Amino acid sequence: MKNTIKLEIPSINSICPVALDTVKSLLKQNDVTAEDTSDVCTAVKEALDNCIQHAYADEWIKPIFVSLSLEDRNFTATIRDTGIGIQNIEQARTPLFSTLADASGMGFTIMESFMDSVKVRSTPEKGTTVTLKKELRIKK
Ligand code: ATP
Ligand code: MG
Repeated sequence: MKNTIKLEIPSINSICPVALDTVKSLLKQNDVTAEDTSDVCTAVKEALDNCIQHAYADEWIKPIFVSLSLEDRNFTATIRDTGIGIQNIEQARTPLFSTLADASGMGFTIMESFMDSVKVRSTPEKGTTVTLKKELRIKK
């Protein structure tokens, strides 16, 4: 059976827990292990932070579209913004690369290490969609 939840949240740091709590509820409902739940939340949080800090430059309050789905043990999260977009996706995904002086440039690397796959689609001036996938473990 496939469970899908779609959210539209404003790009405000203090609202991000709404999306993360929804991830937790969906995975709990399906008896996913605490470790995998924590890994998924870490990755989703990095993607949400990027929408706020980069896509909307910490300035504008604009929508972030989040889709969460779980089919058997296969989890997919899609995080989409309509912000500035990414000029060079390969460079953006390089560890330690950041366009901000005070950021560590590790967000995509963290997403890659906690998920099975990370797909980035982006169009400058139009926005970015990050798709995170992971096969999850179920509690015994
Ligand atoms: P950290 O995540 O460690 O705080 P960071 O956000 O700069 O630092 P990444 O998350 O790896 O590092 O992102 C790398 C770069 O990709 C960012 O500096 C930014 O230029 C670009 N980027 C990432 N996500 C987006 C987005 N949604 N919209 C526009 N640019 C983005
Ligand atoms: Mg980041």
